[in-house]
Amino acid sequence: MHPNPQNPEPRTQNPLSPPWSPAELAAWAPPEDITVSEWAERYRMLPKQSAIPGPWSNRLVPYAVGVMDSFIDPGVERITIMASVQSAKTESAYNMIGYAISQDPAPALVVMPTDKTLRRVNKRIQDMIIEIPELSRYLTGDPDDMQKRSIVLQRMEIYFATAGSKADLANVEARYLLMDEPDRYPVATGEEGSPVEMAEARLTTYWNRKIIEPCTPTTPDGHINREWLRSDQRKYWVPCPQCGGYQVLSFWQVKHRGEVLGAWPDDKKDPDYIRQHRVARYECLHCQAEIDDREKPGVLARGKWVPTGHPFDVMTGEMPPLPSVSHVGFWWNVLYSPFRNFSEVAAQFFATKDDREKYKTFVNLWLAEPWKEIIQQRSASAILELRTNRPLLEVPENTLALTAGIDNQRRGFWVSIWAWVLAGSGLIDQHLVRYGFIPDFQELEIWLFQDVYRSREGGQSYPVWRGAIDTGGTEGGPGEATQTEQVYEWLRRMGQGRIFGVKGAAHTLPGGKKMVHSIIDKMPGKGRPIPGGIRLWTLDTNALKDAFWSRVESGRVHLHADTDEIFAAQLASEAKERDKRGRTVWVQQGRMANHLLDTTIYAGAMADPECWGGVMVLPRPGKSAAVEPQGGGNFFTGQSRGSWLKR
Ligand SMILES: [Zn+2]
Repeated sequence: MHPNPQNPEPRTQNPLSPPWSPAELAAWAPPEDITVSEWAERYRMLPKQSAIPGPWSNRLVPYAVGVMDSFIDPGVERITIMASVQSAKTESAYNMIGYAISQDPAPALVVMPTDKTLRRVNKRIQDMIIEIPELSRYLTGDPDDMQKRSIVLQRMEIYFATAGSKADLANVEARYLLMDEPDRYPVATGEEGSPVEMAEARLTTYWNRKIIEPCTPTTPDGHINREWLRSDQRKYWVPCPQCGGYQVLSFWQVKHRGEVLGAWPDDKKDPDYIRQHRVARYECLHCQAEIDDREKPGVLARGKWVPTGHPFDVMTGEMPPLPSVSHVGFWWNVLYSPFRNFSEVAAQFFATKDDREKYKTFVNLWLAEPWKEIIQQRSASAILELRTNRPLLEVPENTLALTAGIDNQRRGFWVSIWAWVLAGSGLIDQHLVRYGFIPDFQELEIWLFQDVYRSREGGQSYPVWRGAIDTGGTEGGPGEATQTEQVYEWLRRMGQGRIFGVKGAAHTLPGGKKMVHSIIDKMPGKGRPIPGGIRLWTLDTNALKDAFWSRVESGRVHLHADTDEIFAAQLASEAKERDKRGRTVWVQQGRMANHLLDTTIYAGAMADPECWGGVMVLPRPGKSAAVEPQGGGNFFTGQSRGSWLKR
């Protein structure tokens, strides 16, 4: 069934040939016609210190069956397991080794991250062999054969190596390789190659080699996530007990009992309360039914491994046969583990979410997701590369209008002024004309209303067409209310229908908008009326930042020749990260100020089509009538509408 080409075919019994010794009989016994999971259920005993001592039960961890059985698929060479802790991933790998000893013996190599973990695993495997009669029958009886670096059995040898140790690997040739927790291996030094490469080099003589790599993920660039992405990426789809719809268990579907659509009541977030009262339920993605812990075994038992992208009917669970692949990948998170209930997982989330390091551990070890530290960030030097030869204050030819962004500080204002230019392609570019820090409203009025910005050739002068000023932080604080009032008062006097108040939105805006407009007719705090009111734009700054950086990416943003490191550093001060709810947000990095980034975003908002048509509706230079934009955002960004609108 599973011939080993390193050994001759088993001899058949001939009544005329001399009788075999028991050892010889054992040595030449043909393999039983069983799978690894069947072998585990028949022979494997878990030690006393394990979470579930006693005989192995596939019913407890039904998802492990497909993982273990991939070991005997003759087409499979590499088995990548990216999974949470305490969910039988390592035990599944031990079952493969046990199966090999008993059914398909060949040299095996076990590589561990450290000497300490090596000792522990060597002991575990020694104990497994000694305690399981089906395996102990292959002991040689010589105590010297049970060593830290190798276990010698009658029909196979198991080598143990610390990752990256050249000495441990010397003279080792193996058909089976178990690389445990490869993301914890030391980084490569010198010319030997990485510990993974060194280990895999010991398998070259075996055409039917098998590599097993179980690991919790670390980062997207970690070994196990890269291997997972190269594999066929199998996930375990389980059916809802109510509607039968299949789904991959996601932490974000763990809800407070009786609550709908993810609302977790504020007064129910105490981890101890959640654990004690077991209030968490799993909400079916399809029918919103509440699934509780008692239903989990039945749900898991009917699950199916489905490679990512493989056709699969989520309502019937039907799918065409899987194609044969040499590299299989299995992923599962702690929600599948029989050792954790939904409430324990929810409690762990609330216990860790406010501590970056602890939350990262939760994401890696429980959710089995790589931790994406930063999704997008541009360096200050990359920003300086956007400089052109155009000097400070000079407006480019074909400018449609200038817009200004103003960031309101206690001791003054950060300002940037941008020109919106019809580029040769018919698209609109933005060019930085001027920026700086100014001390007071008087100076601000000079920048906005008196200074003249000219183009070089035509000598044409441009006023600031529109501007946006930050109306201050949250209301209520004594200083802040005053500051907001000052800005409101100034806007009422000086806004002239050209300068508008802006503030950041606390939540995403309805309809996926980047900004919404309102009129404020009362002062904050005392509620004194504002005659005529002032116009305020509430901005989704995340969406506007996405839009700005996508314009940078498509080459539509240019800086003047005198742009300095301060401007670049402030623009580079934020990076896009994934937050706890899986949304992407721009977050300030370190202590670098981000004021000029804010001014840039505000100036961009004033030019945006969502701001009463933006610069799109202005007359084209040299033409008298406004031209209606073609296809909405496309004209403005030079990119697909999707990327400009993308959130
Ligand atoms: Zn359902």
